[in-house]
Amino acid sequence: MAVTASALRELHRIHRQLTDLRERKERGPKQIRAREANLARLADELTKLQADHKAARVRSDQKQLLLKSGEDKVESLKVKLNAAASNREYQVLKDQIAADQMAGSVLADEILEAMEKIDELAAQIAEQQKKIAVSKEELAKAQQSVLEQAELLETDLKRLEAQLREAEAALPTDFRENYQRVVNSKQDDAMAEVQGDFCGGCYQQLTPNSMAELSMSVAIFCRNCGRLIYLPEDRTPSQNR
Ligand SMILES: [Zn+2]
Repeated sequence: MAVTASALRELHRIHRQLTDLRERKERGPKQIRAREANLARLADELTKLQADHKAARVRSDQKQLLLKSGEDKVESLKVKLNAAASNREYQVLKDQIAADQMAGSVLADEILEAMEKIDELAAQIAEQQKKIAVSKEELAKAQQSVLEQAELLETDLKRLEAQLREAEAALPTDFRENYQRVVNSKQDDAMAEVQGDFCGGCYQQLTPNSMAELSMSVAIFCRNCGRLIYLPEDRTPSQNR
C-alpha cells in the first residue's frame, strides 16, 4: 500500500477545498432566506401600523361626530334659554349648557390627542415603507450576486471533482476501499498532516513504528482517531516525491 505523502497531501487539499466550496454554495441561499424573512417581518409590521392608523382615524371621526352633535345640542339649548318661561327653567337650561360645553371641551382635547396619534402613525408608516424599499433592493442585489456566485462555484466544484477523481484513480486499488471508508465518514476531516511525531488530527503521539512506516510511504491510519495521516512536505523523503 505505497502511497506518497504528496499524493495524500494533494487529496487532502482537494477534499478541504471541496468542503469549502460546498459550504459557500449553501451559504448563498441561506442568506437569501434570511433576507426574505426580514422583508416579511417588515411587511407584517407595516400591516399592523396601517391597521392601527385606520382604527385611530375611525375613533377620531366618531369623536368628531359626537362633538358636532354636542355643539348642535348646545345651540338648540341656547335658543330654548332665550325663550325660558321661568327662572327655574332658565337655570336648568344654563346648567345643562355648561355641562354639555364641558363635555365638548373634554372631547375636543381627546380629538387633538387622536390627531397627534394619527400623525405619529402616518410618520411610522412612511418610515416602514422606506425600510421595506431598502430591504427589497438589498434582496434583489443579494439574489443577483448569489446567482452569479453559484455559477462560479459550480465551475470550481466540477474542476475539483475532476481533480479528485484523477487523484483517487491513482491510488493503489488495495488501499482505495479503506480510503473511501474514512472519507465517507469524515469527509475533509478524514486526513491529517503529522505534526512533529503527533497526529495533526487528534494530537496523539505516533509510535516510532508508525513514523518509520510513514517515512517509507506506507499509507497508515492514526490508531487513535482513524484519520489517514501523512508527513508534511518538508519531511517528505525526496525519493517519494
Ligand atoms: Zn489521530
